Amino acid sequence: MNAERLLARFLQYVQIDTTASESTQAYPSSAGQWELGALLVRQLRELGLDDVQQDEHGLVWATIPATAAGDIPSIAFNAHLDTSPETSGKNVRPQVIRNYAGGDLALPGDPQQVIRVAENPALEALHGATLITTDGTTLLGSDDKAGLAVIVEAAAYLTEHAEIPHGPIRILFTCDEEIGRGVNHVDPEKLAATVCYTLDGSGAGEVDVETFSADLATVTVRGVNIHPSVAKGRMANAVRAAGAFLARLPHDRLAPEATDGRLGFIHPYHFDGGVGQAVIKLILRDFETAQLARHADLLSQLAANVEHAFPGVKVEVAITRQYRNMGDGLAREPRAVEYAEQAHRRLGIAARRTIVRGGTDGALLTEKGLPTPNLSTGQHNPHSRLEWACLEEMVLAARVLVELTQVWSVPPSSVH
Ligand SMILES: [Zn+2]
Repeated sequence: MNAERLLARFLQYVQIDTTASESTQAYPSSAGQWELGALLVRQLRELGLDDVQQDEHGLVWATIPATAAGDIPSIAFNAHLDTSPETSGKNVRPQVIRNYAGGDLALPGDPQQVIRVAENPALEALHGATLITTDGTTLLGSDDKAGLAVIVEAAAYLTEHAEIPHGPIRILFTCDEEIGRGVNHVDPEKLAATVCYTLDGSGAGEVDVETFSADLATVTVRGVNIHPSVAKGRMANAVRAAGAFLARLPHDRLAPEATDGRLGFIHPYHFDGGVGQAVIKLILRDFETAQLARHADLLSQLAANVEHAFPGVKVEVAITRQYRNMGDGLAREPRAVEYAEQAHRRLGIAARRTIVRGGTDGALLTEKGLPTPNLSTGQHNPHSRLEWACLEEMVLAARVLVELTQVWSVPPSSVH
């Protein structure tokens, strides 16, 4: 694996602003995603891959042709082009720290921004490594440009080592993952793979095997507005009733501030309204899909409760399905995870099965019938000005992909 070449590509990718934008319905939502996608098309063509294409939605597709005959399942690797709108991704000035000597990392562009070892215990094991940070004024975008660079380096390595036997490998780079639109235009039939791996995980050696199951709740509180001077006995104030609804939500349990591990939550994240009508948006999350209905039931109880306390007010709860725990779908193709673990073992690493307190494009692909666990790529502190990445972990991720192609072409004789 060529670490310097991987690093050079990564630095090139992060300097293209691909911030996703929720304020447009355009797809992709930012011009930079077209620009980065076009760059990747050029690079993949230079490697000599087949079917290299940026489609009408900005998605990038390619195939590493098979080097071995026989009925070898096709596998796919995916990463996303966009970065989170939570922190600016414009004018990213990456800082490369060679031979990290330990200690906190002060970022040169903003003295307030310090990557502290106390908050980043992973740093303690990385003395001597090459780290990449921002200058403290933007995010880095290793989520998910680390994934892009890892996949391109693995593809380069495989094309340079035609003696490595493998089946057809599909590559897909998606847009607008960070705003939940990553697979809107992905047809699993077109990908034509038995399994897919998203390269969008943090650190090293992790295989994400579960995500939350997720619903959105929209609570509409309808009041009666009238001039305050003549309001006695006639006004029903939706702002007050909505406030009461929020106050009745549990906050010392079933809240993101109060839960971790496998515990789910109800999270009010947006409020908008006036006396006549107020709208509260909440996300419902749980690893146990059946619990989502119980969270929704709680909201309905609170709605009835508030209607009773505020005569004239009507409270309506509408639930929209978002995504489902990918563990449910991965159970139908156990090789997806077992072979990923086997690929790590071939490198002398014991992979950890981890769970994501969120969603991934893989959860949506898995729901569409394509089993898609998520793999580590060396990214850390995503969506933040304190984001950083580790080159050695990116190189390891690329080596895992090469080993994965081997496990899929010559499956282990017994898989438990
Ligand atoms: Zn990501």
